[in-house]
Amino acid sequence: MIIAIDGPAASGKSTVARALAQHLNLTFLDTGAMYRAVTLRVLAEGVAPEDEEACERIAGLIDLSFDGQGRVLVDGEPGEPQIRGAAVTAAVSVVAAHAGVRAAIVPKQQAIAAAGGAVAEGRDTTTVVFPEADHKFFLVASPLERGRRRAQERGEPQRAGEYAAEIERRDEQDRTREHSPLLKAADARLVDTDGCTAEQVCERLLAYVLGGA
Ligand code: C5P
Repeated sequence: MIIAIDGPAASGKSTVARALAQHLNLTFLDTGAMYRAVTLRVLAEGVAPEDEEACERIAGLIDLSFDGQGRVLVDGEPGEPQIRGAAVTAAVSVVAAHAGVRAAIVPKQQAIAAAGGAVAEGRDTTTVVFPEADHKFFLVASPLERGRRRAQERGEPQRAGEYAAEIERRDEQDRTREHSPLLKAADARLVDTDGCTAEQVCERLLAYVLGGA
Protein backbone atom coordinates (compact mmCIF):
# COMPACT_ATOMS: atom_id res chain seq x y z
CA MET A 1 0.00 0.00 0.00
CA ILE A 2 1.18 3.53 -0.74
CA ILE A 3 -0.19 6.53 1.13
CA ALA A 4 0.91 9.94 -0.11
CA ILE A 5 0.63 13.10 1.97
CA ASP A 6 1.49 16.56 0.66
CA GLY A 7 1.10 20.05 2.03
CA PRO A 8 2.99 23.23 2.87
CA ALA A 9 5.85 23.42 5.38
CA ALA A 10 5.03 22.52 8.99
CA SER A 11 1.46 21.46 8.18
CA GLY A 12 2.02 18.37 10.33
CA LYS A 13 2.85 15.96 7.51
CA SER A 14 5.94 14.37 9.03
CA THR A 15 4.48 13.66 12.46
CA VAL A 16 1.29 12.25 11.00
CA ALA A 17 3.00 10.24 8.26
CA ARG A 18 5.43 8.74 10.76
CA ALA A 19 2.60 7.71 13.12
CA LEU A 20 0.50 6.35 10.27
CA ALA A 21 3.43 4.29 8.98
CA GLN A 22 3.95 2.83 12.43
CA HIS A 23 0.26 1.90 12.77
CA LEU A 24 0.17 0.28 9.34
CA ASN A 25 3.63 -1.27 9.49
CA LEU A 26 4.76 0.61 6.37
CA THR A 27 7.98 2.48 5.64
CA PHE A 28 7.91 6.18 6.51
CA LEU A 29 9.32 8.10 3.53
CA ASP A 30 10.33 11.69 4.33
CA THR A 31 10.96 13.01 0.82
CA GLY A 32 11.89 16.49 2.10
CA ALA A 33 14.77 14.96 4.05
CA MET A 34 16.22 13.74 0.74
CA TYR A 35 16.20 17.25 -0.79
CA ARG A 36 17.65 18.55 2.47
CA ALA A 37 20.42 15.92 2.30
CA VAL A 38 21.32 16.97 -1.26
CA THR A 39 21.36 20.60 -0.11
CA LEU A 40 23.62 19.75 2.83
CA ARG A 41 26.12 18.23 0.40
CA VAL A 42 25.76 21.17 -2.03
CA LEU A 43 26.65 23.61 0.75
CA ALA A 44 29.45 21.40 2.10
CA GLU A 45 31.06 21.33 -1.35
CA GLY A 46 30.82 25.11 -1.66
CA VAL A 47 28.47 24.84 -4.64
CA ALA A 48 25.95 27.66 -5.21
CA PRO A 49 22.35 26.39 -4.77
CA GLU A 50 21.52 28.17 -8.07
CA ASP A 51 24.11 26.08 -9.98
CA GLU A 52 21.77 23.52 -11.55
CA GLU A 53 24.44 21.42 -13.23
CA ALA A 54 26.53 21.01 -10.06
CA CYS A 55 23.43 20.32 -7.92
CA GLU A 56 22.28 17.71 -10.43
CA ARG A 57 25.70 16.02 -10.35
CA ILE A 58 25.60 15.85 -6.55
CA ALA A 59 22.01 14.51 -6.55
CA GLY A 60 23.02 11.80 -9.01
CA LEU A 61 26.02 10.64 -6.99
CA ILE A 62 24.68 10.84 -3.43
CA ASP A 63 23.61 7.62 -1.74
CA LEU A 64 20.44 8.16 0.27
CA SER A 65 18.81 5.60 2.55
CA PHE A 66 16.83 5.61 5.79
CA ASP A 67 17.49 4.03 9.17
CA GLY A 68 14.80 2.05 11.05
CA GLN A 69 13.42 5.30 12.53
CA GLY A 70 12.91 6.94 9.14
CA ARG A 71 15.94 9.24 9.51
CA VAL A 72 17.90 9.88 6.35
CA LEU A 73 21.40 8.46 5.93
CA VAL A 74 23.70 10.32 3.56
CA ASP A 75 26.30 7.94 2.13
CA GLY A 76 25.60 5.81 5.20
CA GLU A 77 26.08 8.66 7.73
CA PRO A 78 23.24 10.31 9.73
CA GLY A 79 21.95 13.47 8.03
CA GLU A 80 20.25 14.68 11.22
CA PRO A 81 20.44 17.20 12.77
CA GLN A 82 22.42 19.15 10.14
CA ILE A 83 19.73 18.80 7.47
CA ARG A 84 17.32 20.77 9.73
CA GLY A 85 19.73 23.67 10.27
CA ALA A 86 19.09 27.24 9.13
CA ALA A 87 21.56 27.15 6.21
CA VAL A 88 19.98 24.06 4.64
CA THR A 89 16.44 25.33 5.30
CA ALA A 90 17.23 28.63 3.58
CA ALA A 91 18.71 26.96 0.46
CA VAL A 92 16.67 23.77 0.03
CA SER A 93 13.84 25.23 -2.05
CA VAL A 94 16.34 26.60 -4.57
CA VAL A 95 18.11 23.22 -4.89
CA ALA A 96 14.81 21.28 -5.03
CA ALA A 97 13.50 23.49 -7.83
CA HIS A 98 16.07 22.15 -10.35
CA ALA A 99 14.50 19.64 -12.75
CA GLY A 100 17.74 17.61 -12.88
CA VAL A 101 17.82 17.26 -9.09
CA ARG A 102 14.23 16.02 -9.01
CA ALA A 103 14.91 13.62 -11.88
CA ALA A 104 17.70 12.06 -9.81
CA ILE A 105 15.78 11.89 -6.53
CA VAL A 106 12.26 10.80 -7.57
CA PRO A 107 13.33 7.30 -8.78
CA LYS A 108 15.07 6.75 -5.42
CA GLN A 109 11.78 7.58 -3.66
CA GLN A 110 9.83 5.25 -5.93
CA ALA A 111 12.32 2.43 -5.35
CA ILE A 112 12.06 2.76 -1.56
CA ALA A 113 8.25 2.60 -1.68
CA ALA A 114 8.25 -0.29 -4.16
CA ALA A 115 9.95 -2.48 -1.56
CA GLY A 116 6.88 -3.15 0.60
CA GLY A 117 4.82 0.03 0.54
CA ALA A 118 5.21 3.37 2.28
CA VAL A 119 3.65 6.43 3.80
CA ALA A 120 5.34 9.19 1.82
CA GLU A 121 5.15 12.88 2.61
CA GLY A 122 6.38 15.97 0.78
CA ARG A 123 5.29 18.45 -1.88
CA ASP A 124 4.76 16.32 -4.99
CA THR A 125 4.17 12.80 -3.66
CA THR A 126 0.45 12.92 -4.59
CA THR A 127 0.99 14.55 -7.98
CA VAL A 128 4.29 13.33 -9.45
CA VAL A 129 6.01 10.64 -7.39
CA PHE A 130 3.01 8.42 -6.55
CA PRO A 131 0.09 9.61 -8.69
CA GLU A 132 -1.47 6.13 -8.32
CA ALA A 133 -1.16 6.03 -4.50
CA ASP A 134 -3.91 4.10 -2.70
CA HIS A 135 -4.70 7.14 -0.54
CA LYS A 136 -3.80 10.78 -1.06
CA PHE A 137 -4.08 13.60 1.46
CA PHE A 138 -3.29 17.31 1.35
CA LEU A 139 -2.72 18.78 4.80
CA VAL A 140 -3.14 22.49 5.47
CA ALA A 141 -2.96 24.79 8.50
CA SER A 142 -2.79 28.57 8.88
CA PRO A 143 0.70 30.15 8.65
CA LEU A 144 0.49 31.32 12.26
CA GLU A 145 -0.35 27.85 13.55
CA ARG A 146 2.46 26.36 11.46
CA GLY A 147 4.91 28.95 12.79
CA ARG A 148 3.84 28.09 16.32
CA ARG A 149 4.28 24.35 15.74
CA ARG A 150 7.72 24.73 14.20
CA ALA A 151 8.87 27.08 16.98
CA GLN A 152 7.58 24.62 19.58
CA GLU A 153 9.41 21.74 17.88
CA ARG A 154 12.66 23.70 17.93
CA GLY A 155 12.21 24.63 21.59
CA GLU A 156 11.91 28.36 20.74
CA PRO A 157 8.21 29.17 21.30
CA GLN A 158 8.94 32.92 21.44
CA ARG A 159 10.11 32.86 17.79
CA ALA A 160 6.79 31.68 16.26
CA GLY A 161 6.48 34.83 14.13
CA GLU A 162 9.94 34.41 12.61
CA TYR A 163 9.28 30.74 11.83
CA ALA A 164 5.93 31.66 10.23
CA ALA A 165 7.70 34.17 7.97
CA GLU A 166 10.37 31.63 6.95
CA ILE A 167 7.69 29.01 6.26
CA GLU A 168 5.67 31.41 4.09
CA ARG A 169 8.78 32.36 2.12
CA ARG A 170 9.57 28.71 1.41
CA ASP A 171 5.93 27.88 0.55
CA GLU A 172 5.89 30.71 -1.99
CA GLN A 173 9.05 29.32 -3.64
CA ASP A 174 7.63 25.78 -3.64
CA ARG A 175 4.25 26.86 -5.04
CA THR A 176 5.54 29.04 -7.85
CA ARG A 177 8.37 26.88 -9.20
CA GLU A 178 8.18 25.47 -12.71
CA HIS A 179 8.78 21.79 -11.93
CA SER A 180 6.57 19.79 -9.55
CA PRO A 181 5.15 22.79 -7.71
CA LEU A 182 3.32 22.35 -4.43
CA LEU A 183 -0.34 21.93 -5.32
CA LYS A 184 -3.28 19.85 -4.26
CA ALA A 185 -3.99 16.89 -6.54
CA ALA A 186 -7.63 16.88 -7.65
CA ASP A 187 -8.13 13.46 -6.07
CA ALA A 188 -6.33 14.22 -2.79
CA ARG A 189 -8.44 14.64 0.33
CA LEU A 190 -8.03 18.09 1.90
CA VAL A 191 -7.41 17.92 5.65
CA ASP A 192 -7.37 21.16 7.67
CA THR A 193 -5.26 20.52 10.77
CA ASP A 194 -5.75 23.92 12.45
CA GLY A 195 -6.50 23.39 16.13
CA CYS A 196 -5.97 19.62 15.90
CA THR A 197 -3.34 17.57 17.67
CA ALA A 198 -1.16 15.25 15.59
CA GLU A 199 -2.96 12.30 17.21
CA GLN A 200 -6.36 13.63 16.08
CA VAL A 201 -5.14 14.12 12.51
CA CYS A 202 -3.58 10.67 12.48
CA GLU A 203 -6.84 9.11 13.69
CA ARG A 204 -8.77 10.92 10.95
CA LEU A 205 -6.45 9.68 8.23
CA LEU A 206 -6.40 6.20 9.67
CA ALA A 207 -10.21 6.13 9.60
CA TYR A 208 -10.18 7.00 5.90
CA VAL A 209 -7.55 4.39 5.15
CA LEU A 210 -9.07 1.58 7.17
CA GLY A 211 -12.61 2.56 6.25
CA GLY A 212 -11.65 2.28 2.59
CA ALA A 213 -13.08 5.75 1.91
O1 C5P B 1 9.33 18.76 4.11
P1 C5P B 1 10.50 19.69 4.31
O2 C5P B 1 10.09 21.03 4.86
O3 C5P B 1 11.61 19.07 5.06
O4 C5P B 1 11.04 19.95 2.83
C1 C5P B 1 12.12 20.81 2.59
C2 C5P B 1 12.03 21.36 1.17
O5 C5P B 1 12.28 20.30 0.24
C3 C5P B 1 10.69 21.96 0.75
O6 C5P B 1 10.54 23.30 1.15
C4 C5P B 1 10.75 21.81 -0.77
O7 C5P B 1 11.47 22.87 -1.36
C5 C5P B 1 11.55 20.52 -0.95
N1 C5P B 1 10.70 19.37 -1.22
C6 C5P B 1 10.31 19.15 -2.51
N2 C5P B 1 9.57 18.05 -2.83
C7 C5P B 1 9.22 17.17 -1.88
C8 C5P B 1 9.59 17.39 -0.53
C9 C5P B 1 10.33 18.52 -0.23
O8 C5P B 1 10.61 19.95 -3.40
N3 C5P B 1 8.52 16.08 -2.24
